[in-house]
Amino acid sequence: MGRLSKREIVELSNNYMMTNVARWWEDDPIVVESGKGAIIKDVDGREYIDLHAMHAVASQGYSHPKIINAVKEQLEKIFVVATDFYNEPQALLAKKLAEITPGKLKRSFFVNSGAEAVETAILLAKRAKSRPGIMALWMAFHGRTHMPRTLTGFSKYKKGMGAFPYGVFHIPNYYCYRCPLGLEYPSCNLQCARMVDDALKYAAPEDVAAFIAEPIQGTAGNIVPPADYFKVVKNILNQYDILFIADEVITGFGRTGKMFAIEHFGVEPDIMTMAKALGGGFPVAAAIATEEVGTSFKPLDHYSTYGGNPLAMAAALAAISVIEEEKLVEKAARDGEYMLKRLRELMDKHEIIGEVDGKGLLIGMELVKDRKTKEPAVEETVKFRSELRKRGVIIGPPGWTGSRVRINPPLVITREQIDVAINAIDESLKAIKR
Ligand code: PMP
Repeated sequence: MGRLSKREIVELSNNYMMTNVARWWEDDPIVVESGKGAIIKDVDGREYIDLHAMHAVASQGYSHPKIINAVKEQLEKIFVVATDFYNEPQALLAKKLAEITPGKLKRSFFVNSGAEAVETAILLAKRAKSRPGIMALWMAFHGRTHMPRTLTGFSKYKKGMGAFPYGVFHIPNYYCYRCPLGLEYPSCNLQCARMVDDALKYAAPEDVAAFIAEPIQGTAGNIVPPADYFKVVKNILNQYDILFIADEVITGFGRTGKMFAIEHFGVEPDIMTMAKALGGGFPVAAAIATEEVGTSFKPLDHYSTYGGNPLAMAAALAAISVIEEEKLVEKAARDGEYMLKRLRELMDKHEIIGEVDGKGLLIGMELVKDRKTKEPAVEETVKFRSELRKRGVIIGPPGWTGSRVRINPPLVITREQIDVAINAIDESLKAIKR
């Protein structure tokens, strides 16, 4: 390794891979070489402050020595173990997850990606309830395998990919800045949450197994629901004995200033999915459920060859201990408030910012052509990302409107790096005005 030039790496990737190669900044893509903390370095030696954390995966930062050491130690013992055998790190991780997840969540099933965790949650819900229906939200993102893609509420991921599994239906989401029902909070009386009841009446609630939602919609643009949204929804679900699945693939493990984002909203899920920061970068994911729901699978109802492999389990145990020991949950809450304040201050200078909202280090900043009409500033957002990169800061692709900038750095980002990033955001917004 280390023998190919940047051009060769890009060419080989583009010629021999299907489509999962990052196409950001197509004219000058980033080829990553290494990372440390909140900084990634490309093969040309250029360093960037990362405000994206690889889709919120790198919460513990890049190359955390504790995770590296845990993986090295396990590598030397054994790393090839299929699901057929018990192993110590798996047992310890299952217990740890039962301890740190909210409410009565207790029984885990380990897989390798967020989409598989969602697949697992849906299969479990159907098995537990013996019902076929699943309710999801507009603008939800739950992954790209078949069922998660069906649950995803973005048309662009569906066009030309059907037919999709039957039984899934969507209802309007909680996007207050652009309310899908054209209402305003709080005079709306949380109509979007109350629509769960309307939708169920049309769908035959006795056929619906579960409602799945992200506690904060990530891919849609880091969109936070009103404080009581999930309480209203959960009350309705309880009336019909329908399970609530919280998809915490992005929001879990301190990202929002609580260990899990659903803790902000005062309700307890029956099933939760998790991935990304769970492994601190290692491909590991899980669905966790209450005792009652989690014991619904019959033997071999579900199986994953690599799920629960000791290498991934050891990485996850270390990744969680980093979050605990470095108090990253509390840090995310503090730094999130600081970033929100600094970004909101920029609204005085930059008319283009329509809204800044978020929880912890999961922040959405909406760029608009006009604050009254809220027309999305899509081209400006493309330019903004490039200007930011020129200044040594990177962000991921924007949310649903093409103009909702998603800010979710590694939780280990330093105050100094945050200040440099905010100044770069300020300068980049100035640059696109010119
Ligand atoms: N659920 C949520 C909420 C996600 O954000 C994602 C990925 N961004 C997934 C599921 C799918 O995860 P993966 O890409 O690991 O399959």
